[in-house]
Amino acid sequence: MEINCIAERQKAFFEKNRTKAYEFRKKALLRLKRTILYYEKEIEEALYKDLGKSDFEAYMTEVGMTLSELNYAEKHLKGWMKEKRALTPLAQFPAKSFEAVEPYGTVLIIAPWNYPFMLCMEPLIGAVAAGNCCVVKPSAYAPHTSAVIKKILSAVFPKEFVAAVEGGREENTALLEQKFDYIFFTGSKAVGKIVLEKAAQNLTPVTLELGGKSPCIVDETANLKLAAKRLVFGKYLNSGQTCVAPDYLLIQETVKEEFLEYLKYWIDKVFSAEPMKNQDYPKIINEKHYERIMKLMEGEHIIKGGFGNKERLFIAPTVLDDITEKSPIMQEEIFGPVLPVLTYRDLKEAEDFIKKGEKPLALYLFTGRKQTEKRVLREVSFGGGCINDTIIHLATSRMGFGGVGASGMGSYHGKKSFDTFSHTKSIVKKYQGVDLPIRYQPYTNGKKKL
Ligand code: NAD
Repeated sequence: MEINCIAERQKAFFEKNRTKAYEFRKKALLRLKRTILYYEKEIEEALYKDLGKSDFEAYMTEVGMTLSELNYAEKHLKGWMKEKRALTPLAQFPAKSFEAVEPYGTVLIIAPWNYPFMLCMEPLIGAVAAGNCCVVKPSAYAPHTSAVIKKILSAVFPKEFVAAVEGGREENTALLEQKFDYIFFTGSKAVGKIVLEKAAQNLTPVTLELGGKSPCIVDETANLKLAAKRLVFGKYLNSGQTCVAPDYLLIQETVKEEFLEYLKYWIDKVFSAEPMKNQDYPKIINEKHYERIMKLMEGEHIIKGGFGNKERLFIAPTVLDDITEKSPIMQEEIFGPVLPVLTYRDLKEAEDFIKKGEKPLALYLFTGRKQTEKRVLREVSFGGGCINDTIIHLATSRMGFGGVGASGMGSYHGKKSFDTFSHTKSIVKKYQGVDLPIRYQPYTNGKKKL
């Protein structure tokens, strides 16, 4: 089906009002869940082919998270759809005030390649729960996963309700030429700007889930051994190709040497001293990114890893010491398994350093001091994050996930997803028995005094 034809047919289908019924939405979510479970093995195989993800990692970070979001949405859907009462100001008495939610209509979801299954499915769950029709555009860089997504969505939904469009530049451009009622984009800042410009032409509201450089601060009061283990987990998961991966380390000078020993220890312990032989360590998505990441290490002081294998698109977990603000690796989002190390003396120096850059998508703080937690939360603006851990804040349906400033706008997961894809109408229902005369002309002297 041609792209403009899909958009038109979805609009026509939406206008039939079928997607607005609770039963319709609930059944759609249930069918989606059943079909994902049916294709679970195929999804995991596709993720292995595209990114070398092990079954365990594919389940933990993609299939499992999607299923848990589906369960949460199913459980809470009825409550989310209910009208919410609000107090009525005295001047409007006698009346009832309430908020009623409605779907936007047709939604476009554009997803990246790094968690290619989950980043298509999680927004889709929100869009369907909220009663929208939806076009999903998976990334062409993860073609196997994209094909399974298409297979699943075609098996579950008629195209006029939910459709997957595969392809690259041409399809992306054609999709953005259509008029959707909402656009949900996950990807880079550069493409985010293009999406925002295109959306502006139709005044289409958007959510942008972008990336950036997420810092990890470790101070001298932290449990250093545990901090190093958790940093290694978050940094090298999916070979560093995670939007919320700790991009760089800010370590307090006094504990630097000790912390770096723990870092190296955990890298060996987790990935083995010969990480090339580790079958569970994902690959870099393609040659272009492989070359880009390898170049970032050139001329730097490598204290761990630092080598790769182009044929296998493998890059070892790497740590770079003596990095400064000016180093090439600090000029872009790394999106690979390379950790630059920078030091700071006091907290203000670390905060000032972060604040000089754009607002990060995530921030991680390892500390034993409550007042340090409070201070960093007050001083630094960022999308979300963890205290004494990395990246796990996104693995929940009970809190929203999103960026701020250059790392994105809007948020989703759980109820926030439902809200993102819904418009809220505020309604005052006025009773007809009594009609206070005060607001009507003529404004007599008596009224003016009021
Ligand atoms: P990307 O911006 O290159 O591509 C994202 C999607 O946009 C893909 O589907 C791609 O086909 C499409 N696209 C590319 N050019 C387009 C154009 N001109 N018009 C319309 N669509 C276009 O990003 P990527 O390389 O796939 O992903 C990496 C980036 O995504 C990183 O910056 C990362 O931080 C970010 N990311 C953010 C999140 C988040 O939740 N905030 C999650 C994952 C990745």
